[in-house]
Amino acid sequence: MKFSTKAIHAGQEPDPSTGAIMTPIFQTSTYAQHGLGGHKGYEYSRSGNPTRTALEDCIAALENSQYGLAFASGLAAEQAILSLLKTGDHMVSCDDLYGGTYRIFERILSRYQIETSYVTAASTADYEKAIRPNTKLIWLETPTNPLLRLVDIRAIAEIAHRHHILLVVDNTFSSPYFQQPLELGADIVLHSTTKYINGHSDVVGGAAVFKDKEVYEAVKFYQNAAGGVPGPFDSWLTLRGIKTLAVRMRQHEENAFTVARFLSEHPRVEKVYYPGLASHPDHELAKSQMKGFGGMVSFQFKGTLEDVDQIVRRFEVITFAESLGGIESLICHPASMTHGSIPREIREARGLTDTLLRLSVGIEDAEDILRDLEQALR
Ligand SMILES: *Cc1c(COP(=O)(O)O)cnc(C)c1O
Repeated sequence: MKFSTKAIHAGQEPDPSTGAIMTPIFQTSTYAQHGLGGHKGYEYSRSGNPTRTALEDCIAALENSQYGLAFASGLAAEQAILSLLKTGDHMVSCDDLYGGTYRIFERILSRYQIETSYVTAASTADYEKAIRPNTKLIWLETPTNPLLRLVDIRAIAEIAHRHHILLVVDNTFSSPYFQQPLELGADIVLHSTTKYINGHSDVVGGAAVFKDKEVYEAVKFYQNAAGGVPGPFDSWLTLRGIKTLAVRMRQHEENAFTVARFLSEHPRVEKVYYPGLASHPDHELAKSQMKGFGGMVSFQFKGTLEDVDQIVRRFEVITFAESLGGIESLICHPASMTHGSIPREIREARGLTDTLLRLSVGIEDAEDILRDLEQALR
């Protein structure tokens, strides 16, 4: 099956007992057993629930794998993947990471003497230089947040495998519609399904998809042992959201292009970051590893922090909020919100200035988004 067909059907058969075409919400904690060791594949809903199984199989299929696991949040999925590490291990990651990921590495893993080295995200050679004898994982995000630089997944996978290291790619920003890291050599794909996969800003969830069965089994063990699983209703909402992933992503991208071009010509805009623009430093890499450029656009406003405060108060269609990937347009101010905990000098050295805004372009009518941007910037 191709992508849209899988999004609608993978893991989902009409219910055998009633014929219902939608996977039921199996709102149950336990299952009747018929004698010692006799059950129908489900014993207790932390270990497994049919609604969750449908979601896990569907997300796995979208990343061209059979091995998917769903979690209560993106960070719960991360923690489960990180259970592959033990005290004394080392990890290599990039400097342009989701803040919550950085916080797990620095505030939780560090308690177990698991150390992380950070390299410049787009600088491929630096990943290899940072590898030590005890390095077990390379963890990257592409496109990065909020500057939307690209990391060469094929090249880093080649480095990782030469050193017998697993490569984890956080694919939240692209969704499997635009990028399939396992096909490019990654071993594990991570999603915050809170974002594009569910897509309707009404669920917090996460998923991990694996190339190899053994790695999947190890993380599945942790999923049951530590218990960060999604409930049946959240699993069902996410399954419902996934069905329209392809059409949503196409519209997100079309609107993002329109917004990126509009901002590029706007007199009050200093700089636009969108991998689809030929002026973007990683445009060629984007063309070779992605099937499209996604729905995120960042830009630098010409003005002061006070101007930015005025702008974000004036939006009428766009909402000033954290998060991304929903059908509605959201704008955020990374320097004070998602990246507020990074010291100013480090932030500014990376191009993350006080006048940078990050837009998650929704699927409203593009004309309304442009009109809203125009009136707020004016
Ligand atoms: C939101 C996000 C996460 C964390 O996911 P939650 O669902 O909020 O726990 C991880 N990585 C990226 C890139 C994200 O945007």
